[in-house]
Amino acid sequence: MAKLELDRLAKTFGKHQVIDGLSFDVKDKEFVSVLGPSGSGKSTLFHLIGGLYQPDDGDIRLGGKSIVGQKGAISYMPQSSTLFPWRTLEENVLLGAEIAGNVDRDHALSMIEKAGLSGFESAYPHQLSGGMKQRASFIRSLLSPQSLICLDEPFSALDEFTRQEMQQWLLSTWEEHQRSILFITHNIEEAIFLSDRVIVLSDRPATMRKEFQIPFARPRDPSLILSTEFLEWKKEIHHSLRTL
Ligand code: ADP
Ligand code: MG
Repeated sequence: MAKLELDRLAKTFGKHQVIDGLSFDVKDKEFVSVLGPSGSGKSTLFHLIGGLYQPDDGDIRLGGKSIVGQKGAISYMPQSSTLFPWRTLEENVLLGAEIAGNVDRDHALSMIEKAGLSGFESAYPHQLSGGMKQRASFIRSLLSPQSLICLDEPFSALDEFTRQEMQQWLLSTWEEHQRSILFITHNIEEAIFLSDRVIVLSDRPATMRKEFQIPFARPRDPSLILSTEFLEWKKEIHHSLRTL
């Protein structure tokens, strides 16, 4: 297990500086959300960590070693489903493990069952709903050997009801598997509900505006979001996003 450290990251596209001196870390087994408005550089950050983009400056370390420009160091789940259309759900779920040469089919099948996807093992992605595809992508991440999972707005395309169900499912699965998660979102409520810590980004160029340690005990119940304390957190973080 390894800690992820972002150290004074900077990224410019042409004349536009998108990220400027961004530093924070994700500790072992921690659930950290990065919260920022649309266009603030969240996906750019995600691509930098995933090794798809090269930073202009700064370093990204996993377990003390630089992973700049390195693909496959972390498990990576983009916004839209990346299930292969020609593979069944089961074959998609096993992809990461297959690449790592470490396939445990029984474990995969039990996770498919826990994700409420029993009976769909042989279904192809076009036969699955948005929520089902996201569940399958996340199981694939959990079955991959990397210690850190990075998710870029995985639920933003889902309707509110499905989104809440997925958040609940993600939390219970994460609590059981205890991996480090870096979760990217523009949704304040989602960030608070899920995370141990919320990193609030400034507008472009993205720097860290503020960091919040979220104190709610786990396991967290969906009714938490209706509590007065939760609403107080929501207000405070909302305020930190508004004030420049
Ligand atoms: P977010 O995910 O927070 O909505 P992005 O990281 O996608 O934001 O984008 C931040 C800014 O960087 C946007 O203005 C976007 O147009 C720009 N940008 C992102 N990727 C590229 C790219 N490959 N080339 C040029 N500009 C880009
Ligand atoms: Mg984005």
